[in-house]
Amino acid sequence: MRKNLLKKMMAFAAMVTLLLIPVSGLAAQVEGNSNHVEKDWMSYVELVQKLNQIKEASSGKVEVEVIGQSRQGREIHAARVGTGDQLLLINGNIHGNEKSGPEALMQMFETLGTSDSPLAQSIRDEVTIVAVPRLNVDGAELTQRQNVFPWDEVVATYPLLEGAEPAWYYHARNRGFDINRDFNPDLNYEPLLEDLPGTSADLGFFLTNESQILRDLYLDLKDEFGEVEAFVDLHHMGTTKTNKTGEDVTIAIDYPPLGPDDSQKYADWPKLDQDKSKRYALAAALGVKELSDNEEPGVSQYIHPEERDLPGQARSSFALNGTATVLFEMPGQQPAFGYDQELIDRVENGLWGIASRMADDSINRLNGDDFLSLPKYWTESASDMKDLVTRFTKEGMFESDTVARSLATHLTVVERFEKQENGAKVVKHTEGFKFLLNHYKEEGMIAQEAYNRLQSDANYLIGKW
Ligand SMILES: [Zn+2]
Repeated sequence: MRKNLLKKMMAFAAMVTLLLIPVSGLAAQVEGNSNHVEKDWMSYVELVQKLNQIKEASSGKVEVEVIGQSRQGREIHAARVGTGDQLLLINGNIHGNEKSGPEALMQMFETLGTSDSPLAQSIRDEVTIVAVPRLNVDGAELTQRQNVFPWDEVVATYPLLEGAEPAWYYHARNRGFDINRDFNPDLNYEPLLEDLPGTSADLGFFLTNESQILRDLYLDLKDEFGEVEAFVDLHHMGTTKTNKTGEDVTIAIDYPPLGPDDSQKYADWPKLDQDKSKRYALAAALGVKELSDNEEPGVSQYIHPEERDLPGQARSSFALNGTATVLFEMPGQQPAFGYDQELIDRVENGLWGIASRMADDSINRLNGDDFLSLPKYWTESASDMKDLVTRFTKEGMFESDTVARSLATHLTVVERFEKQENGAKVVKHTEGFKFLLNHYKEEGMIAQEAYNRLQSDANYLIGKW
C-alpha cells in the first residue's frame, strides 16, 4: 500500500517537473526526438498488417495464405500474384537477422497488385509469383539467425532421434537451427538416427517446421505447375570490397554451391542445370544495374570457389530438383545495420530483373557464363591475388613499387604452375611468396591490411593444392 502511494507521488512529481519545462524546451525536445526516430524493419505484426493491406488494395490480384506455423505458434504467410504458367518462388528472411527480403517483397507485391503499367501487366500474365516474405518468423522477432527449437523438443518430436548428437547446424546457445541447412533434395526424406549429426557437405534432415513448410509449398506448386521454374532466396552477409576496384559490394548474387562442374557427386540428379541458374542470376544483376541509380556499381558475384558444396541449403536442394535458383546477399546484417531504403530497393530491382525477363522470355537467351564476368571479392587463384596487389599498389599500401613488383612477379610464377596443375610447385612458390610477405612486414614496407589479406589468401591457395 505504502509503496503504491509512493509510486503515485513520484509519478505526480515527475509530471510537475515535466510541466515546469518551458514550452520552447519541450517543443525542442519533441523536434529533436523526431529527427532521431529511425524507421525500423517490420515486426511480425506489421508484416501481417502490410500483407493484408496489399491484398485489400489489389482487388483480388494478390492472394495471401497461411502456409503453416512456426514452433512458437506464429503463422507463416505466402503471397501470390499473377496467372502465368511460369512459377517464380521467392523466399525471404530464412535467417532471422537478414531483414531486407520481406521489405522488398512488400514493395514489389504492392506494385504488382495495383499497377496497370505494361510491365506489371505482362508479368501478371506470363508469370505466377509466390513469395514467403518471412520464413523464420521466430528468429526475426529475436533478430537471430536461427529459429527457436531446443534440442530436447526435437527429440520429443522425433523420439527415434533419442541419443543422437544434435545436427551439425543446431546452435546450442540460440537453441535453434540454421533453417537454410535443413533441406534435402530427396523432398520426401524423413530424419534417421544414423544420419545425424552430419557435416556441411551432407544433406539436411527436414527437422524444422520452417523447412518442411517451404518444402511442402514447393511440392504443391510443382504439382500445380509441373515445374517450379525458379527460386530466389533473400539474405544478408558481411560487408566487403571487390578485388579489382576496392568498391563496396552493394549486392552479391549466386548460383547453387554444388562443387565443381565435373563432379560426379550429383550424377543421380540429372535435372540439375547450373547454366540455367547462372542465367537467372545474371538477370538479377542486370535488373539491379538498370533500375538503380548510376547503373549501381558494386553488383558482384557471391563467394563461390568451385569446391564450395552445400547441398543442404534450400536453393541447392531445389536446384537438384530442376529449379533455377538464385541467392541474393545484401551487405550488413541486423541489428548492426539499420533500415536502408536504397538497399531494399536494390533487392526489389534484382527481383524485377528476373520477373521481367521471365515475362518476355529473354531470360532464356542470356548467356549464363556472362554472370561469371561480374566482379569478385574473394581469392581462388594467384591471378585474383595479382588483382589485389594492383589495387593495393594504387591505394599506397606498399612502401615502394619494388615491393609491389616483386610480389606480383612471385604470383606470376605461381599462376604458371596453377595452369600446369602442378600442385607441388604451386605450394612451394606460394610458400616463397609468404616468406617475402613476412620479410616486407618485418621491414615495415607493407600496410597491415594488405599483409593480412595476402597472407590469408596465400594460406588458402596452399590448402587448396
Ligand atoms: Zn543468410
